[in-house]
Amino acid sequence: MIDVPAIVARLERPEYTGENRCLPCTVANVAIAALLAVGLGVATSTLAGALAFACALLLVYLRGYLIPGTPTLTRRYLPDRVLSWFGKADAPEPERRPTIETADLEAAVETLSTADVVRSTANGDGLRLTDDFRERWTDRLPAGGAVESPADAVASLVDADEIDSCGEATVELDGTKRLRWESDAALAADVAADRELRTRLDGWETLEPADRRDVLAGLRLLRERCPACDGRLETRCERVEHCCRRPRVALETDCESCGRSIAALAVGESSPLLEWVPAGDGGA
Ligand SMILES: [Zn+2]
Repeated sequence: MIDVPAIVARLERPEYTGENRCLPCTVANVAIAALLAVGLGVATSTLAGALAFACALLLVYLRGYLIPGTPTLTRRYLPDRVLSWFGKADAPEPERRPTIETADLEAAVETLSTADVVRSTANGDGLRLTDDFRERWTDRLPAGGAVESPADAVASLVDADEIDSCGEATVELDGTKRLRWESDAALAADVAADRELRTRLDGWETLEPADRRDVLAGLRLLRERCPACDGRLETRCERVEHCCRRPRVALETDCESCGRSIAALAVGESSPLLEWVPAGDGGA
């Protein structure tokens, strides 16, 4: 007997189907299948064409594509404008992974160095927090590493008339937009760092809140100790290939003791942010 579930399982490509299904690839492949089926139908019989089309649709359904390599092809040849219709261009990342604006990052590093917040590592291939900033930042963390009310705590970090807490690391701005931190500890770390930076940087408060949150997220990558439990933090870099989007590098800092996520960002491969991450913590 034919073991249908086993065959389906073998054909299935979860990386290109389900929520990973890529609309441009699917559309392109169905169009190609239709052309081939029409060609086959004309050359042989309508039935053969229809059968071939049905098989092709099934393959696209199961595998996400018909022609091997389509994900790469659409990424390479479809213009950004077209990809953006499908939400595939280098559009802003979802809220969970804020993208650092690369344009001002170099300038930010220079300013932060001047303010004695960061310094270059001894061998010059990365950044570290200065001892002074690290100590003061940690002193400003709430006991237990979590704030009592996220909505009150982040008031200085967002631009909104009304802020509501939605859980321990999410707030809702003006009843519409949600902002989520990686964990309660990440949120508490940003609030504490924001307070310390106000004392060190002129003009910090007048920066756009989104820009400030980007800098704060970058600083979290440089922490060595968990804001909640003081456990050791580990940062990983991973190149993420995604169907039609340009490859990005995911930077993730997690606590080895309590497992909290402290920072999770996705940046372009040429982002200067990658130079921040201490050398030796996985190659990008
Ligand atoms: Zn921890």
